[in-house]
Amino acid sequence: METTFSHLIDGELVAGRQHFDVINPATGAPFARCPDATRQDLERAMIAAARAFAGEWSRDEALRRRTLVHMSEALGAQADEIGRLVCLEQGKPLAQAVGEVKGAAQILRLYADEPIPRDLLREDEKARVTLVRKPLGPVAAITPWNYPVATLVMKLGPALLTGNTVVAKPSPFTPLSSLALGAALRAAVPKGVVNVLGGSDEVGAWMTAHPAVRKISFTGSVPTGKKIMRAAADDLKRVTLELGGNDPAIVLSDVDPARVAPKLFWGAFTNSGQVCVAIKRLYVHEDVYRPVLDALAQLAKQVKVGDGLQPDTQLGPINNRPQFNRVQELVEDARRAGGTVVAGGAPLPTPGYFYPPTIVTDVGEGVRLVDEEQFGTALPVIPYRDLDDALAQANRTHYGLGGSVWTTDVARGEEIAQRLECGTAWVNQHMSMSAKVPFGGVKWSGLGRENGRWGIEEFCELQVVNAAKV
Ligand code: NAD
Repeated sequence: METTFSHLIDGELVAGRQHFDVINPATGAPFARCPDATRQDLERAMIAAARAFAGEWSRDEALRRRTLVHMSEALGAQADEIGRLVCLEQGKPLAQAVGEVKGAAQILRLYADEPIPRDLLREDEKARVTLVRKPLGPVAAITPWNYPVATLVMKLGPALLTGNTVVAKPSPFTPLSSLALGAALRAAVPKGVVNVLGGSDEVGAWMTAHPAVRKISFTGSVPTGKKIMRAAADDLKRVTLELGGNDPAIVLSDVDPARVAPKLFWGAFTNSGQVCVAIKRLYVHEDVYRPVLDALAQLAKQVKVGDGLQPDTQLGPINNRPQFNRVQELVEDARRAGGTVVAGGAPLPTPGYFYPPTIVTDVGEGVRLVDEEQFGTALPVIPYRDLDDALAQANRTHYGLGGSVWTTDVARGEEIAQRLECGTAWVNQHMSMSAKVPFGGVKWSGLGRENGRWGIEEFCELQVVNAAKV
């Protein structure tokens, strides 16, 4: 396994002048070094992205579509190697990590064929008015550590299709898979069109202040999203912000507890709960509360937590030490507030950041585990009697990413789902996403949408071409 990695700048693999350690969360020990971009590296990447944008790239749609196909093939061909890196640096089970990279290759392929919208607004004997979409320029793509490859590719696909160029910076906790992706794409992409820099949070801040950048596409936490919006204001850079969530799931009294419990469990604990749209608060009608709770606790005790490289692992570690500490802190805080831990509740006595799935009851609003985004393996389960009250609790938050309603009456579920204040409201499922379906949050969970035609629009400026016929 390679242990040194390079930036991709202007089509060249550029060695780092300085480095930081990347830790395998399954061991808690460093396993590789990541180049830490300097201001000079960033400058070179921005100049390259601006130069590539000014060239044929932004005008030649056929070239871009061909490039996306080549990118998809290049990434797919290295899915095993890059997936292994995702497993090592992120912690998720190897099969899921490889699946993330294969899925990312498919997303690139899909964008190769997506139409770029164009509207004829008027056509008569006097005039033709056309609405066209134009690319914005160099895009700063800044990504988090939970799905490092998927979150990056969800930006690359639409940004490149529409003629923008990209400077990407992954999270310092999971930079290697993005650098490996850059290396894999190098031969498939014209120079300067895609640049990937390893770097700390500070490099992200430099990017958002850089005058060459016309668009910031960010996935990460609410506090960083707010900083980015402030940084963008001076230069009126366009922003798309995909931020955190505290998704509620509301379980009605008509469900079969044995059937819904596994779906609820995986809706909350997939990727060890480190999913922006995981179920983070579970409201269960009192008629079915006890059997649902018991089934969840049973599942939590059975599931195999371990190193993602072990084939029988179902849940890997928490990705990093600060997040591992935070999950413990929130569970301890819930205990102090009178909460009861019915499963889990303590880290595994092994090296690495392992915290088994933890189910907490006897908590409600005002307790941090309920009010804050835990982003980890701890789930509060809250009984309710009155649906209006459960909906009010669900909506009484700054977050608004996803939410779900669970019932055998699907039509009623759809009605109730629309009362949830969130970007995606599911019925009898949670987390299901598609590259064709818009995704994003309301309130503090974000601004703008990714995916499909709505995601494509985020990387474009509208231009009206208004021609009088002479
Ligand atoms: P984070 O905000 O700490 O970091 C995200 C990225 O921003 C990293 O690359 C980081 O280096 C960079 N960064 C940090 N400070 C910056 C600054 N001042 N300027 C520019 N860039 C800066 O988030 P995280 O901890 O890596 O990710 C977890 C969060 O991401 C959770 O809140 C999760 O819900 C959210 N998330 C949201 C989505 C979504 O699509 N809505 C998807 C995945 C994760």
